[in-house]
Order: sequence, then C-alpha cells, then structure tokens
Amino acid sequence: MDLPKSFDIQEIQSFDPPKRRLMGPGPSDIHPRISSALSRHCIGHLDPEFVKIMDEIKTMTQYVFQTTNRLTMVLSAPGSAGMEACFANLVEPGDKVIVCINGVFGGRMKENVERCGGTAILVEDEWGKPVDPNKVEEQLKANPDAKILAFVHAETSTGVRSDAEQLCQLAKQHGCLSIVDTVTSLAGIPVLVDAWGMDAVYSGSQKCLSCTPGLSPVTFSDKAVKKIKNRASKVQSWFLDMNLVMNYWGNGQAKRAYHHTAPINALYAMHEALLMVREEGLDNRWERHQKYHLKLKKGLENLGFRYLVEEEYRLPQLNAVFLPEGYEEAAIRKRLLEDHMLEVGGGLGAFAGKIWRIGLMGHSAREESVDYCLEALRKVMG
Ligand SMILES: *Cc1c(COP(=O)(O)O)cnc(C)c1O
Repeated sequence: MDLPKSFDIQEIQSFDPPKRRLMGPGPSDIHPRISSALSRHCIGHLDPEFVKIMDEIKTMTQYVFQTTNRLTMVLSAPGSAGMEACFANLVEPGDKVIVCINGVFGGRMKENVERCGGTAILVEDEWGKPVDPNKVEEQLKANPDAKILAFVHAETSTGVRSDAEQLCQLAKQHGCLSIVDTVTSLAGIPVLVDAWGMDAVYSGSQKCLSCTPGLSPVTFSDKAVKKIKNRASKVQSWFLDMNLVMNYWGNGQAKRAYHHTAPINALYAMHEALLMVREEGLDNRWERHQKYHLKLKKGLENLGFRYLVEEEYRLPQLNAVFLPEGYEEAAIRKRLLEDHMLEVGGGLGAFAGKIWRIGLMGHSAREESVDYCLEALRKVMG
C-alpha cells in the first residue's frame, strides 16, 4: 500500500549516546547497576511481584526522606511534576501562599500557585543568597490568613542551601503548611522530613539519587493529607490528584486500584538506586558528597575559580563558580564536552554566561570524577 505521505526516515538508525561524564546540575552519572536494572524483563503493573517492589520502593523512599508519612511514593513523572503535584493538591482557589524566590525554581513555585487559583505573596532574596527567615517571618505576621509557605531547599540555579528546618518551624508556628523542593538536596545533604516538620515534599530521580530522569519521589504529612481530603473543590489535575494516586500506591489498603500504567522499568531502576542509598547509608552518602566537594573546591580555587555562595550556605553537590578572568566560558564548556566528554552546567538567568554549575551528585560524587574534571580543566585552560 502507498502511504499518503513520504517521510525522510530511511537514514535513521539506533541511537548510541556518547559516553559523557555528567557533572552538571543533573542528570548525574548512572551506576551500571541502575542501567542494568532498567533493562530487566517488563512485567505487569498489577503483577503481585511488581506490587511487592512498589512496597519496597515506598519503604526505601520513606527512609531517604526520613519520614513515616504513609502518603509517600514515587510519581511517574519528573521533579517538575512533583512540584506541580504538591501545589495542585494543597492550594485551593483563593488560598494565600507565601513563596520564597532566590533563584529559578522559586519563580516556578509562584507560577504554580497562580495556576492553581491561589495568591502568591513573594519573599525575594538575591540570587546566590539563602532565603532570609526574618523576611519570611515578617510576611507570615503580615498575612495571618496565609495557608502555605513554599520554598526551595537547595536552589540548583545558584548552589545555595536554605535552612529548611527553621523555615518549616516558622510555617508551623504561624499555622501554615510547608511545601518544600528537595529535588537537588535529597540524598546529597540531610533532608529530615519528620524531624523538621515538613508537610509536602518533592524530589527528583536524576540528581543525588543518580537514577534515570523522569521520576519524582514525594511525601505528604498527615496534616497535608487532611487538607487534601477536605478540599472544597476537586484537584484540577486528574493525573496528579493524590486522592486517586494513593489508591494505586496502596495507602494502607491491600487492594490496588488501577490509576495509570506505572513506568515499570524506570521503577526497577529507582528500586536499585534506593537500594544503593540504603547499602551506603544516608549519613555516609552525605559525608561522601561533602568530601568530594572539598576536594573539587581545592582544585578549582587553585585554577582561579571563585565560589558564588558563602561557605556556610554552599551545596556540596552543586558548585556554582565564577571562572577566572579572561576566559570565554561557553567556548571552554564546549571543549570540555567535545574533547573530554565532560558535561558541566552553565549559569541560568542573571548568571548566564557568568558562572558554571559543577555537579557532584550521587554517583558523580567520586574521586575519579573529581580528578578527571580537574585534569580536563587544566588541559583546556592551560
Ligand atoms: C531539577 C530541578 C527541578 C525539576 O526537576 P525535573 O526532573 O527537571 O522536572 C525542580 N527543582 C529543582 C530545585 C531542581 O533542581
């Protein structure tokens, strides 16, 4: 049969990706154990054996978040969907939400609040600085009717860490729920959901968990679940409605209701990634990120790089640095990629063309990567 249209597709072949080293703001390098898990035999999404590993994924996700929250799961979509899920479920039309902005991702939170029909009250801090708890407290006092405080724990656009514990406690003192972005922080620096009293927390698979991109671990406190269950209006997103998704992830009940077909193989990979965190131990993993950050820092400073963020607020897993004078950043980054198969990140927004973001996330945070990166830099800049 003649197809109605012809397409220029005869030359297309299977894709064999270049073997780059990933030292940007994510995705990070993937351990062979994880890529091997990804290619295992696909089984059905309601197969009893699959349900078993979903339960294990849930338990290990609770461990990584350090929480006993029953509503803990891995969403079948990337970190941005985790963000959207938290806002879509918790923000009802008319709700006032205090949103902290000190980089790109805080700006997206504002966008989410408004699309959910809420009003965003902004607390803005300079890029490269942490969220100022004093300003947050001022806004909480000035807006006693605010329902939620939202902020980014680890701002990937600038490499800055904000004090999640203090901010969540402030939210609690003022009767607000907290929504916290831990996409870059989870499994790289401490994220203690229960001890810090966090309410709705989302992350991503491809940063310090070093899994393939496209999944989002999330967890909701009992208080957050109560608000979701008592909403006056339905959650506007059907796919992300936790009332429905929780019935698939088995929120306490044995029977699972079909909601969507889980990305089976991606979840095999997530299971392996979480298992690797458990085997290493969270505290050892945090220590490892810090150790290689210090090693990289020393080498970078010797080459004339300068950190954007004050030491106290620096993320070990995301090194935001100014290049030494006289170098054209885009040209060097291109040479690293093409001649050395090494990816580092450029700057975003106000820092585009000004800084680099060198990631030491998950499997990328290792001796060999740091040595390789410094050696490549010496060659390209020497
Ligand atoms: C990467 C990132 C996201 C978005 O995650 P995706 O998986 O790219 O959708 C959100 N917030 C922060 C802080 C991030 O670093």
